[in-house]
Amino acid sequence: MRKPIVAANWKLNKGPSETEDFIKNFITKLPDLPKGCEIVLAAPYVSLVKASELLAQSTVRVSAQNMSEHENGAYTGEISALMLKEIFVNYVILGHSERRAIYGESDETINAKILKAHGTELKPIFCIGETLEEREGGNLEKVLSQQITLGLKDVTEKEMLETVIAYEPVWAIGTGVVATPTQAQDTHEFVRSVLTDLYGIAVAEKIRIQYGGSVKPENAAELLGQKDIDGALVGGASLEPASFADIIRNGVVE
Ligand code: PEP
Repeated sequence: MRKPIVAANWKLNKGPSETEDFIKNFITKLPDLPKGCEIVLAAPYVSLVKASELLAQSTVRVSAQNMSEHENGAYTGEISALMLKEIFVNYVILGHSERRAIYGESDETINAKILKAHGTELKPIFCIGETLEEREGGNLEKVLSQQITLGLKDVTEKEMLETVIAYEPVWAIGTGVVATPTQAQDTHEFVRSVLTDLYGIAVAEKIRIQYGGSVKPENAAELLGQKDIDGALVGGASLEPASFADIIRNGVVE
C-alpha cells in the first residue's frame, strides 16, 4: 500500500554537465524499471535547473540536498524553499547526518526547515540515524525518538503524509558496512511505532520510511524486501546510472 521511493543522493558530485550525462543515460533505462516505484534524484543546487529541464517529461522527481529555514534576507550562501519551488524541485533532503555532524544542524533547525518546506509545498526527505557509539551504548531508541519528535514538532497529519523519513544509521553511510536486514527492519518498526504515538496508526502506516547506508545492487532486494522498509536513500551507488537502476530493479517488486 506504500509506494516505494528510491532516491539518489549525489552529495558534492555532478555539476550540470555530469548531471546531463547521467540523466540522458538513466532515462533510457526507465522503460525496464518497475513502474510502481517513485524515483528521485537529489542533485547539487547548481545542477537542479538542468535536472528539472531534462526530467520535465518523465516521472522521475528532482530533490535538493538542503535548503535554508529562512525565506530571504542576509543569509549569505543560502537557498530558500521558494527558490527551489521556482525551478520545479519536488523534494528536499533535510537533516542528513552530514549536515548534522559537519555543519552543526540541530533538531530545532531541521524542524524549522521541515516546516518551511511544507509551507512551500516541497516534500521533505527527513533523515534520522544513530552513531555506532549511540547504538552500542544502548541509546538507539532514545536518539531516534528525540530526532523524530523534535524534527517533526508542529508538523500536521496532512503534512506528515507528504513527508518521507530516511533511516540512515551513521555507521553505515559511505562505509560499506550495511545494517543487516533484521537490524534495519527492527529499527524501521521502532520508527513507525514512534510515528504511531505521534500521529496514530492510520497515518503511521502510510508514511514511507527509506533505509540508507551502503545500499548496493547486491543488498537492495533483501533490505527493501523487509515489511517496514519502503525504499532507499542511496549515496555512493547512485553515482552511476547502471548501479542506481539495478538497485531499483533488484529492490522493488511489482
Ligand atoms: C547517504 O549519504 O545518504 C548514503 C546513504 O550514502 P551511501 O549510500 O554512500 O552509504
